[in-house]
Amino acid sequence: MEHLPVFLNLGDRDAVVVGGTAAAAAKARLVLAAGGRVRLIAVDLDAAFDEIHGHIRFIHLARPFRAGDAQGATVLFAATGQDGEDRIAVQAARAAGVPANAVDRPALSDFIMPAIVDRGAVTVAISSAGTAPVLARAIRRRIEALLPARLDALARFAARFRGNVGRVVADGPARRRLWEQVFEGPVGDAVLRGDEREAHAGMMALLNARSSASFPANDAGGGSVALVGAGPGDPDLLTLKALHRLERADVIVHDRLVAPAILERARRDARRIDVGKLPGSQAMNQTAINELLVALARQGLRVVRLKGGDPFIFGRGGEELDHLRRHAIPVEAIPGITAAAGCAAAARLPLTQRGLASAVTFVTGHHAGLGSETGGLDWSALAQSGATLVVYMGRANAPAIATALIDGGLDPATPLAVVENGTRPDQRILAGRLDTLAEIVAAETIDGPALIVIGAVAALADTDALNDILAAAQRAAG
Ligand code: SAH
Repeated sequence: MEHLPVFLNLGDRDAVVVGGTAAAAAKARLVLAAGGRVRLIAVDLDAAFDEIHGHIRFIHLARPFRAGDAQGATVLFAATGQDGEDRIAVQAARAAGVPANAVDRPALSDFIMPAIVDRGAVTVAISSAGTAPVLARAIRRRIEALLPARLDALARFAARFRGNVGRVVADGPARRRLWEQVFEGPVGDAVLRGDEREAHAGMMALLNARSSASFPANDAGGGSVALVGAGPGDPDLLTLKALHRLERADVIVHDRLVAPAILERARRDARRIDVGKLPGSQAMNQTAINELLVALARQGLRVVRLKGGDPFIFGRGGEELDHLRRHAIPVEAIPGITAAAGCAAAARLPLTQRGLASAVTFVTGHHAGLGSETGGLDWSALAQSGATLVVYMGRANAPAIATALIDGGLDPATPLAVVENGTRPDQRILAGRLDTLAEIVAAETIDGPALIVIGAVAALADTDALNDILAAAQRAAG
């Protein structure tokens, strides 16, 4: 280690900032955020100071720096933008026994400023000892992505119970274990998903039942289910929240539609259960899946129910949610990028566009041709709507869908795009017209999930460019 990491208590103490640059404003802002007072010494101020200027703990001395200015300060920042002036300020600080930092000049500084991940009470500071600030910032971005936004709430929640815990549990391993149970267990989960009531109840149960081996925080024995949308396939399209839940999961119950690259992002030793249809074997039916989720949660496990796209768009998420609720299992729903949004972006095809389409409708092609009395859709109304139509699960019924729309009055020359394996490395985009849909589907072997986008905007799909780029990428990958 080249430096000693410390967190300075600036509460109501003075920091001297020398210089009126934007970098000086950034340091002043940090000091104020940490509860310190700022004495700024500079003749001219950058516009970046505008929002700081009225702060109650901010004083501006509009004059050049003098040797005595460092006296009594806790730290000094030199950010004049002039090497000579910064040196003078740093030397004056040293003479007064005040640690100094010259912005972007580690060699001149007594201490350096880390890259910071700020979650309120929880703060992560990263240093590369001044050698590679860009690397430190890259690491910070990764940690940013890793830490839940509500971490601050968790720290504050713990602070509220500190006194109680101290009275009930003796200092030492027992107390440490209790806190581990809080942070790593259902109580922490409840705080992170914003359920303070459940968290409070769980905490009281932990404190009351302290002598027994297990601490059921709810009827599910502390277990819970998160219905998580995995997005269309590209793992980078997972939400941060989905990633957090995957990292904490004990069990992942997933569909066939979820790409392996996404499952790789989950906690290594989480059990994976595939309830999707595998070639040649039977898929688990919905009733069995519902029961499985309840049974797993009742074992006290953190269950992630991982679904392609968004759980609530043709994902049967609503049925699972309902079943879990009726069995009093704590449930959380985490949205995912639905195939329509993913495929549209991948094909650079806007689903709405001024002058072309001012509405978009997601439909399932599953029931097409079966007639409206079987729960099907009113295809002629859809044909008349003028909305971009995005058809999920439409491949098998593609010819019937085209016929129904044309019969309903949609122009046979209406552009369409079929996106197969959207956002995945093997993505394909096939363009055509409504009256060629049946041919496209017959001529091309479409094995992967495919989405049909019908409407004027489909003409904007970036077919060639993308298919070429992807084909080249695949060749390069061997
Ligand atoms: N809940 C999912 C949809 C599940 S229905 C979501 O919100 O995306 C399954 C259908 O979604 C597939 O038949 C296909 O039409 C579509 N689909 C899912 N992923 C896709 C992908 N990567 N590319 C193209 N279509 C996809």
